[in-house]
Order: sequence, then structure tokens, then C-alpha cells
Amino acid sequence: MNIKYHKISKQIISTGLQMLNSSLVVGTWGNISARVEGEPCIAITPSGVDYDNIEPEEIVIMDLDGNVVFGDKKPSIEYNLHIEVYKNRQDINGIVHTHSTYCTAMAIARKSIPAAAEDLVQIVGGDVRVSEYKLPGSVELGKAAVRALENRNACILANHGCLAGGKNLKEALKIALIVEKSAQATVFAQMMGGIVELSQHDIDFMRDFYLNKYGQR
Ligand code: 13P
Ligand code: ZN
Repeated sequence: MNIKYHKISKQIISTGLQMLNSSLVVGTWGNISARVEGEPCIAITPSGVDYDNIEPEEIVIMDLDGNVVFGDKKPSIEYNLHIEVYKNRQDINGIVHTHSTYCTAMAIARKSIPAAAEDLVQIVGGDVRVSEYKLPGSVELGKAAVRALENRNACILANHGCLAGGKNLKEALKIALIVEKSAQATVFAQMMGGIVELSQHDIDFMRDFYLNKYGQR
């Protein structure tokens, strides 16, 4: 395995451990991928392997046509989901797909997460919409996810879970955590009588702030 593949594979493994330790997944569900810098390829988790037992050599390198370029393991069954997002979103370089509890609640109720919490709208860019239901592993699931994403960095996959895409893996994991927290807060707010959504003007202001001004520069 060359150094470039090894480096990105280690990042994927570390993200998987954080995803597991943050209870975003149980068992081997969910999956993670990232673009390989400077190559039209992605690195993706192997299918059905425990997150705390993946070696760098087990991460699968694939091209954007779904061909395996390096690796002996079967890639995640969701490689089409990941590839469709990369083909349609040049701003996304890392994807974290989870089956987290509150996102699953939104997914089975088929309810979007409203654009109400400030951190959510800053990092996602708006509400988190539910994609049309499609079977796991299908190209159609990927196309449906791309439609639900539309200028946003996360969506809920109907009856399934969450997809978060970031400029890198670190951001993708952060988005998955903020989306899960927002899904939980949405359920609680509904129990307290409802949600007050932010205006599009305020969402646009905060998104610009997050992208161009927030933090140390
Ligand atoms: P894999 O283990 O093949 O990645 O599948 C898990 C999953 O989340 C399917 O949607
Ligand atoms: Zn899944």
C-alpha cells in the first residue's frame, strides 16, 4: 500500500473509532469514505468489519466508476451512495454515514430537522431534509441523497440514517455529531410545544459567518 493510501486509510480508521465511541453507530453499520488527494479515487471502509478492528490495508481504494483500485476486502455496500455524492459535490472530500439514534427517529418518521439551531445552520447550511426512500446499496439511494443534500452538507436517508459530507473527514464527523444533537433537540422541542425556525436571512448570515469568519484565521 502506498503512503498516500496508507495516510487516508489511517484517517478513516480514526474517524470510525470516534464514530463508534460517540455512539453514532452500533455494530458494523454506517460507513466512511474520503477522496484520495490528487487522484480520481476514494478510500472507503470495508463492508461489515468492526470499527475497532480495521487495519489500514483493509480500507478499499475505488475509482468513481465503482472499480476497486486497491484492496482485497469487499467495499462497503454503500459505495454507490458515496460515489454519487463525490461526483455531484466538488466541495465534499469526506463522508460519514451513520445510523445514530435520533437521526434514525427522524428517518423512520420521515421528518426533516428544521433550520432552528444556530450551530446546525452554520455547519449544514440549512434544514436537514429526508431523501426519497431507496434500498441500501443502490445507485438510486445515492441519487436521492444528492437531491436531498442540495447546497447542504447533510441529509437524512429515509428509514435508514444520516449522511454527512464535509471539506474533510474531521468536518464530516463534526457535522454528523451536530446533526445527531439537532435531531435529539428537535424531538425534545416538539415535546415542549414546537420549534421556532430561523429566517432565511439569518441562516444566510450565519452560514457566511461560519464559512468566512468563524474561528482563528
Ligand atoms: P457496510 O458495512 O457494507 O458499510 O453497510 C452498512 C450500512 O450502513 C449499510 O447502509
Ligand atoms: Zn447504512
